[in-house]
Amino acid sequence: MQLTSKLPHVGTTIFTVMSALANEHGAINLSQGFPNFPSPERLSELVCHYMKKGYNQYAPMPGVAGLRERLAEKVEQLYGATINPDTEITITAGATQAIFTAITAFIRPGDEAILIEPAYDSYKPSIEVNGGTPVPYQLHAPDYRVDWAELGQLVTSRTRMIIINTPHNPTGTILKAEDMLALEKLTAGTDILVLSDEVYEHLIYDGQEHQSVLRYPALWERCLATFSFGKTFHNTGWKVGYCLASAHLMAEFRKVHQFNVFTVNTPVQYALADYLADPETYLSLPAFFQQKRDFFLETMKGSRLRPLRCEGTYFYLFDYSAISDEPDMEFAKRMTTEWGVAAIPVSAFYSNGCEDKVIRLCFAKTEETLERAGKVLRGM
Ligand code: PMP
Ligand code: GLN
Repeated sequence: MQLTSKLPHVGTTIFTVMSALANEHGAINLSQGFPNFPSPERLSELVCHYMKKGYNQYAPMPGVAGLRERLAEKVEQLYGATINPDTEITITAGATQAIFTAITAFIRPGDEAILIEPAYDSYKPSIEVNGGTPVPYQLHAPDYRVDWAELGQLVTSRTRMIIINTPHNPTGTILKAEDMLALEKLTAGTDILVLSDEVYEHLIYDGQEHQSVLRYPALWERCLATFSFGKTFHNTGWKVGYCLASAHLMAEFRKVHQFNVFTVNTPVQYALADYLADPETYLSLPAFFQQKRDFFLETMKGSRLRPLRCEGTYFYLFDYSAISDEPDMEFAKRMTTEWGVAAIPVSAFYSNGCEDKVIRLCFAKTEETLERAGKVLRGM
């Protein structure tokens, strides 16, 4: 039998590779983005409660109604957007599935999708497996700012989608109001869709406001926005997220969703619906993670790893050029195997392996872990 791979250039994701290397060498794992502290106890209790009460069969295809209603209230309060919980919200198996489903629902062979690199690693293969062509627009250290006029030059008659991500993994930058207005202007009068990956919506610091596409009515009509409860409530292993889009886009999204997953984890959805009734559960997150960011930076004082900037997410980029001129992949591997702290090489987020001698460290860790890591990193 002859097999021709649909994704010939795709290997194993960098997050799996680096976490495996960290485990193999007993290194402190600041590579893959996940917290090493527990998900809130009350939320776990609610999941157990609903499991024990027998909420263990298929949930409705778009998700549990109560959870969709809570989410509609949440986006109304946060972003002033009126979303119909019946037709404009679908609960997904994490943001990864929401992203894949959104791309699959709209990208046809020959379509182009513009993505902003460094880009989260699932976007490109999701476009390619659907026969689309990823068109990268590259940002560089230290600022990683989008020049919308430059990005606009990549738009052609085949452009079907632009993918944005704010707060941005891995750079920790955020899009500002002027960015959103520039995107709105760029796409006005076109058939271009915007996929807005907002999984870190609540991880935003120094009093900044998250610029969700939901705040921009003229832009919103062409958007699909994706979110992750795993990122919000410290349970990345539960794999529950959601997608928001106008009804005409969501109808197409659901045509794919019902056949690539149909529905997701029922007791977790009921538990999340109850848990979200108290907005403090997510409104307290900026302060919680900002404290971790600042604690981490403090422990890194005196290190030859030079911090760039982190306006959002739970990642911090560091320039290592004062320590080594080796490629970032080798440096990250050597950090893990020789020093005992695992990192992600930022070149993994570029389709051409471009590198600026920068690594990504995740600070969603206990202070004890951050302190231990800081001690090692200061010695490098
Ligand atoms: N988008 C970005 C930018 C991410 O960092 C991640 C990783 N969590 C995801 C999407 C996927 O989220 P989930 O774990 O909910 O699938
Ligand atoms: N989003 C996480 C990160 O950037 C990892 C998700 C994954 O392992 N696929 O580290």
